[in-house]
Amino acid sequence: MENESCVFCEIMVNRKPEDIVFEDEQVTVFHDINPQAPVHLLIVPKKHIAKLSDVTEQDSKILCRMMEIAREMAVKMNLNQQGFRLVMNEGKDSGQSIFHMHLHMLSGRRLMWPPG
Ligand code: 5GP
Ligand code: ZN
Repeated sequence: MENESCVFCEIMVNRKPEDIVFEDEQVTVFHDINPQAPVHLLIVPKKHIAKLSDVTEQDSKILCRMMEIAREMAVKMNLNQQGFRLVMNEGKDSGQSIFHMHLHMLSGRRLMWPPG
């Protein structure tokens, strides 16, 4: 396991197959345990990177892959009909609670703007 004290690294190693929505060599997608919308997916790189600002130039392709997967999910799950939102929190003020970088994909209800 990449980081033994990390909840997301844990999930990606000890996951039940039914929990995983999608995965490839670089990225895993699973449902948020505490969904904030009818659809709340987490798009998570397999590599343990704590936050966006830690991504090195060498790893920056992962960011592109995460976005591509968000697009694929949107089309596959028809989220692009009504719309969706992608969110990445970083640091204390954003409320980031899991320090393994991830993209939230929220859909299935009207989302407020600006966010809280
Ligand atoms: P953050 O606050 O870091 O942007 O987002 C972390 C997200 O991970 C939260 O929305 C939280 O509900 C979710 N989460 C925390 N622990 C677990 C877990 O054990 N399993 C899953 N599937 N999601 C989790
Ligand atoms: Zn991790």
